[in-house]
Amino acid sequence: MQITFDEAVRFFVAVTASSSCYVCKADKWEIPFHAENNKLCFLIPVGARQGGVGAHNLNLECTSCGLIRTHRAETMREWLDANPLEGGGEIESV
Ligand SMILES: [Zn+2]
Repeated sequence: MQITFDEAVRFFVAVTASSSCYVCKADKWEIPFHAENNKLCFLIPVGARQGGVGAHNLNLECTSCGLIRTHRAETMREWLDANPLEGGGEIESV
């Protein structure tokens, strides 16, 4: 299970564009990098199983108050696979 940093940005821009922190109302979230490969997001195996495969979480952190917001990585992967990047172009980071 892998999600690249660019894929995560694409997902959050397209699906959760106007999601400000529900505690402090800031709108900047930090996506955690994988320690060994900074092109990948750091995903946390949660031990639970969905459809026979282990589930993973991606935690976003509010850069203002530190609130942790958790997304199921498999759900992000499904969306990314169903909505491939047209033309393989780059998108601007947030
Ligand atoms: Zn916050």
